[in-house]
Amino acid sequence: MGLDEDAVTDHAAHRVVIVGGGFGGLQATLRLRRTDIDVTLVDRRNFHLFQPLTYQVATGALSPGEIAYPLRAIFKRDRNIRVLMAEVLDFDLEAQELRLRRVGGVPAPERLPYDTLIVGGGSRYSYFGRDEWRQYAAEVKSLESALAVRSQLLRAFEAAEAEPDAERRAGWLTFVVVGAGPTGVEMAGQIAELSRDTLRGDFRAIDPRGTRILLVEAADRVLTTFPASLSRRAERSLRRLGVTVLTGRAVTGIDDDGVTLGGQDGEAELIASRTVVWAAGVTASSLAGRLGELTGAERDRAGRVTVEPDLTLPGHPEVFAIGDMVRVRDASGAAVVLPGVAPVAMQQGRYAAHVVQARLRGQESEPFRYQDKGNLATIGRGAAVADIKGLRLSGVLAWITWLLVHLWYLVGFQNRIIVLIRWSVSFATRGRGARLITDAAGDDTQPAPSADG
Ligand SMILES: Cc1cc2nc3c(=O)[nH]c(=O)nc-3n(C[C@H](O)[C@H](O)[C@H](O)COP(=O)(O)OP(=O)(O)OC[C@H]3O[C@@H](n4cnc5c(N)ncnc54)[C@H](O)[C@@H]3O)c2cc1C
Repeated sequence: MGLDEDAVTDHAAHRVVIVGGGFGGLQATLRLRRTDIDVTLVDRRNFHLFQPLTYQVATGALSPGEIAYPLRAIFKRDRNIRVLMAEVLDFDLEAQELRLRRVGGVPAPERLPYDTLIVGGGSRYSYFGRDEWRQYAAEVKSLESALAVRSQLLRAFEAAEAEPDAERRAGWLTFVVVGAGPTGVEMAGQIAELSRDTLRGDFRAIDPRGTRILLVEAADRVLTTFPASLSRRAERSLRRLGVTVLTGRAVTGIDDDGVTLGGQDGEAELIASRTVVWAAGVTASSLAGRLGELTGAERDRAGRVTVEPDLTLPGHPEVFAIGDMVRVRDASGAAVVLPGVAPVAMQQGRYAAHVVQARLRGQESEPFRYQDKGNLATIGRGAAVADIKGLRLSGVLAWITWLLVHLWYLVGFQNRIIVLIRWSVSFATRGRGARLITDAAGDDTQPAPSADG
């Protein structure tokens, strides 16, 4: 049953399946709660993740539970919404069914039928076709990877403290962040504050204030989506924090020894480093590719599938795709890439849900239009840049704006309060409460040595 006349006659039976409890999928689901539509939200995780703050988990400023919220808890009072933990493997667009796979040993139905499908599978980091770099350069997109980066960063200081050889110690105390978009800038700033402020005095053999932090960017400036004047201000703030900004330098290799940069004069340069954080290009979820294959919709080089002006797939008005995994065809037929940010996904999620409701009432909808509310990036304590409808802010005012916006959008009232308290304490003490290495093998797994050795 599609979104046709037959469906319109039976509201209660209309089944909407939403794939992804990220920014887009969550907003679509919220918009449909307490309606007579039967909604199933499918995600391979049991929580919504506030990705804009994963880098704070990676640097010990926040704990995982403070930036994630269980999907079931969000919808516990909404009887028309069912949450299903499963991975979407494939689509059967003719039968109007999803094919699912179990995750984490949790049984899942093999097939899930729908009348309307909304897919918001997001994106992941791409290594420019050099997947072998992934093992040496971790990213902070998922909670799991943010925790792995946290352990890696903190372990580097421990290793430096224990390392007698000066050259090897320098390798442990050199951190390279690749990509100077908002995430790269935030990561570099946070590593600088961690080493200069938080860890100061914690060690005996090393002085963490001597840490080298390099931010590498192939473009000629940091934060290329911001006006050039704000990029310059961000760069100045980074330098003040002790970050070395290397613009116009492309990474040509990453391995156990460090990062190789292509030189402006053609000479390659090796930066010896044991910790590399990847914050460069992204690629759309593989679900975008599959929807493109099945519907013939165009895809771009970043794997985004092109949707119609009402966010549906060509020839399938009952299938919407939203968020990081799409680009949108405008009225002139041109495919437009919107910024890969949360507000785009949220507005698209709300729009898709609105169209579903309007159609069930037999009403037409206007094409999707993105309302750009501005661009924000933080660098460190009291330092941020903001471009809000042409109003360019930097410094403390931009930082306070950044704090308020992030608190406002953080899901869960309790999380907001806890994060506010955490940030206030960190601001006052320059401390970070979650400096834990959680993936080291426990000595208690080894047999205890006997008393006589
Ligand atoms: C480190 C980082 C920092 C960022 N900072 C900012 C910022 O400061 N401001 C900003 O506006 N934006 C920021 N972004 C971008 C923002 O997070 C994304 O634009 C936004 O998350 C996109 O929303 P989405 O709904 O498309 O995808 P997501 O929020 O990524 O959600 C996708 C969901 O789909 C689920 N999923 C994927 N595939 C499957 C499958 N096969 N089966 C089941 N479930 C599946 C995932 O588990 C996930 O829950 C940042 C992103 C990152 C990575």
